Amino acid sequence: MSSSNVAGRRSVGGTTTDQLRRANLSTILELVHREGPRSRAEITRLTGLNRSTVGAVVADLAQLGLVSERMPHLGASPGRPSPVVHAADRIVAIAINPEVDVIAIGLVGLGGRVLKSVRIATPVPPLSADVVHRAASAVAGLLAGMEDSVTVVGAGIAVPGQVRTADGLVREATHLGWYEEPLSEMFERAIGVPAFAANAAALAMRAEAVFGVGRDVDDFVYIIGGASGIGGGVVSGGTFLTGSAGHAGEIGHTFVRSSGTRCSCGSSGCFEAEVTQTALLDAVGLRADEIAGLGAALAAAEDDAAREVIAQDTEYLGIAVGNAVNLFNPSVIVLAGFLSALCEGAGAYMESILSAHTIRSARESVGLVPARFGSEQLLIGAAELVFEALLYDPAAFERVTAPRLSAGDGRQPATGDATLATGDATLATGDATLATGDATLATGDGGPVSGADVPSIVGEFNFSA
Ligand SMILES: [Zn+2]
Repeated sequence: MSSSNVAGRRSVGGTTTDQLRRANLSTILELVHREGPRSRAEITRLTGLNRSTVGAVVADLAQLGLVSERMPHLGASPGRPSPVVHAADRIVAIAINPEVDVIAIGLVGLGGRVLKSVRIATPVPPLSADVVHRAASAVAGLLAGMEDSVTVVGAGIAVPGQVRTADGLVREATHLGWYEEPLSEMFERAIGVPAFAANAAALAMRAEAVFGVGRDVDDFVYIIGGASGIGGGVVSGGTFLTGSAGHAGEIGHTFVRSSGTRCSCGSSGCFEAEVTQTALLDAVGLRADEIAGLGAALAAAEDDAAREVIAQDTEYLGIAVGNAVNLFNPSVIVLAGFLSALCEGAGAYMESILSAHTIRSARESVGLVPARFGSEQLLIGAAELVFEALLYDPAAFERVTAPRLSAGDGRQPATGDATLATGDATLATGDATLATGDATLATGDGGPVSGADVPSIVGEFNFSA
């Protein structure tokens, strides 16, 4: 991901009139993508464009197949109803997130809604070629029956490791044992659509920045803890901080303890080496598939050994958060994954740690909040990577439309493979946790959260509890 402004416009090439038209297409498409369906009247108000321009631009976007207009339900408001403009969720990004124990694959529609997803449990950390093969097969399975109704614009891969964003080369993903893997290229060959890869934590942050608690926040730090360690990212002045090669924000490898535990990065005393999901689960007697109950279990923990682990981990979390506060002066720190559960029960103890490790002036203006999204954040964030070019220049859409992935087109995932993939997934689930959520398709009718219905307020952690 290049240094892209969270909400800003970049200039597109062409003549001035053409540039203006393309910029307007981008503004309105991004608005309905991020904010959800809006009436022409609302778009006029929110963009400052005049009514006739909005009408013409919406018509152009509809012609490109990127939005649809529908009449709202009658009786909602008095007067003549204004048609409502929806981002077309038949425009689809494939999203993939390989982890140490599971490969998550999803189809995400324009507008940020996960339409379908599948989770394939892996008994051992998968090789990159294995992930590509299984994901390509699973994608064909997910798309089966939808080939004529959706257009796939690309694939986004959220990798738990360092990725050179310019070409999607995984420099290192130590928990997976991957080094110098040309992952984007491998996926492009297998799936036949443009593929993009980036650090998973940075993409999870992106989901929060666009659709979640980081929406409309110009300065925030995001910290996520999962089975593969701890990652994060920073939005400063409304811009994602990427660093020179896309590796900025590795808060998991910042130092929290002298003479500490050896870390997978080669250092010792790193935040992610000291605070692990596995150790916390063990401390309260939970299995990996019971992670959803971690917050409650931490709050209820009574035995001394467990309390000691929790207190120690909370202190390291406080040190890491304090470093972020002092470095970036954010208004919000967003905690995701198991770190959210850890902070939730920390109460006044976290406040005292922060008092000891932060400068007062920066601490006074910062709030700690839990992330909006759960496990879907990585798929939504990976899809954003794919939609970026489309949102930037919708007028180029016709020219850049990728070949549609269809079963049996001679590329990797043929129909037979898709069936096989489903079988694989079922088998893996049986081997592992028997969690029925794995390997079952989650359709858009059920739980998946759309960007449109994200609440604007998420409560802060209650320090006085
Ligand atoms: Zn490290």
